[in-house]
Amino acid sequence: MKFPIFPNDNAAPIECSFFVGGTWGVTDRFFQVYSPSKGKVIANVAAADADVAHQAVEKASSTFEVWRRTTPYLRSELLKAWHAAMLEHIEGLALTISMEMGKPIQEARGEVRYAASFIELYAREVLRTAGDVIPSHAGDKRLASWHQPVGPVYAITPWNFPAAMITRKLAPALGAGCTAIVKPAEQSPLTALYLAWLWEKVGGPAGTLQVITTNDPVAVSKVMFDDARIRKLTFTGSTEVGKALYRQSANTLKRVSLELGGHAPFIIFEDADLDAAVAEVISCKFRNAGQTCVCTNRIYVHRSIANQFADKLGHAVSDLKVGDPLSEDTRIGPLVDAQGRDKALAHIKDAIGKGASVVAGGKALDGLFVQPTVLIGVTEEMLIMSEETFGPVAPLIVFDCESEVVRKANASPYGLAAYLWTRDLTRAYLVAEALDYGMIGINDGAPSTAQAPFGGVKDSGLGREGGPWGLQEYMDVKFVSTKLTRTELFNEEP
Ligand code: NAD
Repeated sequence: MKFPIFPNDNAAPIECSFFVGGTWGVTDRFFQVYSPSKGKVIANVAAADADVAHQAVEKASSTFEVWRRTTPYLRSELLKAWHAAMLEHIEGLALTISMEMGKPIQEARGEVRYAASFIELYAREVLRTAGDVIPSHAGDKRLASWHQPVGPVYAITPWNFPAAMITRKLAPALGAGCTAIVKPAEQSPLTALYLAWLWEKVGGPAGTLQVITTNDPVAVSKVMFDDARIRKLTFTGSTEVGKALYRQSANTLKRVSLELGGHAPFIIFEDADLDAAVAEVISCKFRNAGQTCVCTNRIYVHRSIANQFADKLGHAVSDLKVGDPLSEDTRIGPLVDAQGRDKALAHIKDAIGKGASVVAGGKALDGLFVQPTVLIGVTEEMLIMSEETFGPVAPLIVFDCESEVVRKANASPYGLAAYLWTRDLTRAYLVAEALDYGMIGINDGAPSTAQAPFGGVKDSGLGREGGPWGLQEYMDVKFVSTKLTRTELFNEEP
């Protein structure tokens, strides 16, 4: 396999292998990757099956015995080189992301930087994986805890951040001394292969990182779930699939991290800076055409400012340029596939049918494009209030008081991110404390950053990625108790 071989608008589809056992594997079975903006095939990607999955487990397992004994310093150096290589390849990676899942090119560059920031962070963090010396209860015992890698890891990732969702897992896993097998989403496997190629190029040893591309995730994953040598599942994707994989992980009692769906409330109080709130709603809701787990799906606006806010947001949203994700000035690209587009349109139709009004947008465009949309007069019984839309639709709901809005914001099975907008510090603290969410943005619509804990509560998942928390997900704590044969330093008189 040769990179950079980005998909090209005008060229024939490229052919890609999977990366198993340190080689770019050959097969006669392929699946197709489409450009959501052009609607044409851009790549034929090797389709791994259960046999390939078995090979990957063998290699991950044998390599782990060597890799776990390397020093954190060596692993840190490799991570630094991988980070540098990603930044050297920022244009190629951004183009690949943009082509395979439709993210506007400027945002795709931002994703590459964000993805690389996890590698940079863990190159430093792995040097701080010291254990503890524990106070002893007995004069003849010395107690300690050591942190050791959990073992081979299976990582399943979604299509909406094809670089960042991989590095957020792999940087701490590889840094901790685990080996990893990644199964990227079938819509966007090319970025994963590109990242593996860069890891290989900077000297990442064969078998430390493997990428299994497949359009049969169930068969491939079954091999991983049945094999006790895979010690950890890390999954980012929908809540429904996450719960099913959690159950399957029980067979071999794997450690599990789940980063799942969200339904973020965004609360705008009457004392908020409205222009700032509009700008942050735009970036929070309309980034990646609304296809992010932390994007707001419910915007609660205080009654006294609701019309003014709707007007400002409507104008700002109407200015967002929809179009070819490869154009520098595009802000809204296509949705990833017909299913995604149809869900967003169904939410708009259902809301209008139940009495909501359109402030901006509201219509389907050609292909997989949907107008960025603002709806007002949204009420609890509308679909958009309970399902993750994953599209460029901003529903506004009017509220009257703090207790009402906190109760409504918490009335969701999800608990990933929540946002609130106010100039009153006391209110900000009290409301943030009362919200049942893993992440809170106070006057901040984009809080996520590599060094902070990312993750949710309730149906939004288990565990945290980012910072020292993200590294601990890949380490077991071993308790070591040493009994001494004597307690005095000198056992004989001089
Ligand atoms: P998805 O659950 O459909 O797929 C995610 C991954 O799981 C893909 O790689 C897919 O091939 C694989 N998969 C699906 N069914 C499987 C099965 N039965 N066995 C094994 N693997 C299986 O989700 P998606 O549509 O790719 O991504 C969108 C979802 O991801 C949204 O719900 C979004 O909120 C969530 N997400 C969460 C986070 C987070 O950090 N919490 C980040 C990004 C996306």
